[in-house]
Amino acid sequence: MSSFSNLQLAPTLARAVAEMGYESMTPIQAQAIPVVLAGQDVMGAAQTGTGKTAAFSLPLLQRMLRHENSSTSPARHPVRALVLLPTRELADQVAQQIKLYAKYTQLRSTVVFGGMDMKPQTLELKKGVEVLVATPGRLLDHIEAKNAVLNQVEYVVLDEADRMLDIGFLPDLQRILSYLPKQRTTLLFSATFSPEIKRLANSYLQDPVTIEVARPNETASTVAQHFYSVSDDDKRRALRQVLNNNGLKQAFVFVNSKLGCARLARSLERDGLKTAALHGDKSQDERLKALDAFKRGEVDLLVCTDVAARGLDIKDVPAVFNFDVPFNAEDYVHRIGRTGRAGASGLAATFVSGSDQRLISDIEKLIKKKIELEALEFDDERPRGRFNTGRRAWGEDDPRDAIESPSSSSSRDSGHRGGRSRPAAPPADPFFNQPYEPTARAEDAPAASWEATQTRPSRSLSANIKTKRKVPALFKSDEPVGHD
Ligand code: AMP
Repeated sequence: MSSFSNLQLAPTLARAVAEMGYESMTPIQAQAIPVVLAGQDVMGAAQTGTGKTAAFSLPLLQRMLRHENSSTSPARHPVRALVLLPTRELADQVAQQIKLYAKYTQLRSTVVFGGMDMKPQTLELKKGVEVLVATPGRLLDHIEAKNAVLNQVEYVVLDEADRMLDIGFLPDLQRILSYLPKQRTTLLFSATFSPEIKRLANSYLQDPVTIEVARPNETASTVAQHFYSVSDDDKRRALRQVLNNNGLKQAFVFVNSKLGCARLARSLERDGLKTAALHGDKSQDERLKALDAFKRGEVDLLVCTDVAARGLDIKDVPAVFNFDVPFNAEDYVHRIGRTGRAGASGLAATFVSGSDQRLISDIEKLIKKKIELEALEFDDERPRGRFNTGRRAWGEDDPRDAIESPSSSSSRDSGHRGGRSRPAAPPADPFFNQPYEPTARAEDAPAASWEATQTRPSRSLSANIKTKRKVPALFKSDEPVGHD
């Protein structure tokens, strides 16, 4: 076991690490920290939960200590390290960790992400910060508004790079990287080294050291995995049945689309379950409140999309439902990793309908286990009515109609990303024309009541933000793009 004391971290950093209670380094930390301390680029295969935030933050902070100063002048606190992440929650989580590691230093850090008012973020940026954590869309807003100047950046971290590419952030990343000095250290972390990630690394990293820690493609043995063969129309019923069969109080319920997420949350509320929805169209405030309500036990079911839930550090979720089989097998592993943590036992129930065969065989390959489909016996008679008309509303048959993407929630993000979505077909059901709005009935569960009180932040671009200049798409040419 490697100990942090071998690293000879500055006393201010060592003290913060000691306070965190870390006894030894995780594998990614043991491998990455010395490399980053030596100033080399890193291409790391590691997911959230492996300790990778400390793996890049601690050596960055250590190297930046030479810039530490107590001046109140913003000019003395230029951005020296930039950490980019795909979602607001991840950005928030990483920024909080960095603050903890840097708490005994004079280095300043802040976070900017979409879905929040730009003004407080602008004030923070104008005061000067050495470490800036950001989601790409919002960072570009700040760059264009001249709130963030990146010409003194020495370190860049592209965290969850695969996810950033998946959801179409490549053009934004390319633009951001074009503002940075060529002389810098670049760290790229990704769950996989797909050909796209390798091309990104070839373009922007210089002689990177490749570090791979055990891929979490093995599911914890503490999680009982069940795959139920269920028709789309019976999924809600199946959810209630599995909850009852196992005496479950709380669970995460994953769906593939924002539309499906909002709709399912509403339906489950109507079924009498206390439910909150977590998807990219929810404001940051709403998401954090949903999480808090879940943690406090005021909400039974957190219905969420992958983008909204990715990387959330919530412990002790007794069960995870895959209401929709995820499009990416890795998301399956990630989703069910929410349960059965720290040796606790957990249940993962996946509802498989006729069209999911290919997705299931992808999961089989990844987890290296044969998947046996089980039939589910229902206690109740099949309810008649809206859900059994045999007609499926637009958006239900293909969740990709509204696949989750952070682009929909940032002020600037208006649909140029999300390569997987297809043009919206006209809704067959007027219900889908309605934006998601929590029900405001008096008897509503607490989760819905707090949502009803939330006001949404404005999505329009501020008047002083100019439209961005066009940048040719990366990868068109075979030439490496280089560091600019
Ligand atoms: P991350 O993968 O960076 O999101 O970290 C996941 C969790 O692991 C966070 O709650 C960290 O505080 C925690 N963590 C990071 N490094 C260590 C360590 N060396 N020992 C124990 N816990 C750690």
